[in-house]
Amino acid sequence: MYDENTISNRQDKGQLNPVSNSTVTIAAVGDVMMHDGQIWSGYDSETGLYNYSMFFQDVKDEISSADIAMANLETTLGGKELKFTGYPKFNSPDELADALKDAGFDIIMTSNNHCLDRGEKGVVRTIDVLEQRRLMAVGTSRTAGERDRIVIKEINGVKIAFLAYTYGTNGNPVPKDKPYLVNLIEEDTILKDLTKARQSADAVVVYLHFGQEYQRVASEQQKKLAKMLLEKGADVVIGSHPHVTQPGEWVRVIGPGGEMVERYAAYSLGNFISAQRFPYTDEGVILKITIEKDLQQNRINVKDVDQIPTWVDKFKEDGKMRYVIRLGKKPPLKKISGLKCPPFTLRCNVPFHTLLLPAGRIRPFHPRPPGCNSIWGHSKCPRISDTDTWRYRYNLLSVELP
Ligand SMILES: [Zn+2]
Repeated sequence: MYDENTISNRQDKGQLNPVSNSTVTIAAVGDVMMHDGQIWSGYDSETGLYNYSMFFQDVKDEISSADIAMANLETTLGGKELKFTGYPKFNSPDELADALKDAGFDIIMTSNNHCLDRGEKGVVRTIDVLEQRRLMAVGTSRTAGERDRIVIKEINGVKIAFLAYTYGTNGNPVPKDKPYLVNLIEEDTILKDLTKARQSADAVVVYLHFGQEYQRVASEQQKKLAKMLLEKGADVVIGSHPHVTQPGEWVRVIGPGGEMVERYAAYSLGNFISAQRFPYTDEGVILKITIEKDLQQNRINVKDVDQIPTWVDKFKEDGKMRYVIRLGKKPPLKKISGLKCPPFTLRCNVPFHTLLLPAGRIRPFHPRPPGCNSIWGHSKCPRISDTDTWRYRYNLLSVELP
């Protein structure tokens, strides 16, 4: 025989079972860029085909092990007829989307300053190509109806909504009669979307393409906007565009139930892949974040934020440039004493640094000569000829290490 107490005890026990919490892991990366060198790195002149799976070969496990993986596609997939080009107006082969799918990505942020590089046609076709590969485009839309739908992914019973916006489109105007093509950062619009997203999802991730290029710390404006969105109901704000990483932070805000909660703002995840050569632009992070749904209290906890460093290894193989994202911190520059400039810069005769790369390959780095303040680093220093610059960038020396 049992009384009411016994029953309620049993229920309590059941409710305390940790199984009652559901978690979802999200992996987010920064800018997936496609410069000219990268376009050609995947081209096979014998078959006429492109393949970019090599970009992601080392990070594939890390990406695909997350429940949801997202990236910012900082180029368009406008098709061959619109010509494939890198900077300043990007258009890349569709095989980049194949490689992203193969790497384990699910959600592709398309609202960024390059999304109109091939006009409306480019915006529309990019979404088509992603969709054909079962990749979800967020931040640009083909129709007004599409603009108003909220992208939600449900994993382990947790519904997560994704919103994305960009600060601008590099002077390529969004057609006046088709404002739905690109989500711009406009507070009113974001707040409206956020309210709508909260109605049908448990958690909301807001992606912002914002910040100052090459600044390694988030600006006050970035912080203010991110904090405001976290206060208004976003659970995670993820940014990119500066092409370098910016430290993220926990932000304490009042949650939907009136209690204090910890939310996370990742201001810039840096470049995931690019051919950029400015300092730190070849480094990025994979942000891994766990979102927990507490089924007892029906609330969302953001926890376990992990930043896995990555860097872009550029090297020559079979006469071709290769770009591979490596896991871990970029190997430090190591000065090797006794080695002078290689023959093609004999006139300089300054000891050079090398970057030790996997498989014993080395890449020379020249110390900046006194008085050279070029932000491009030594490679654009007037004391080095164009030919030398080219060789610096693309030659891998085989020098015996002492
Ligand atoms: Zn950008």
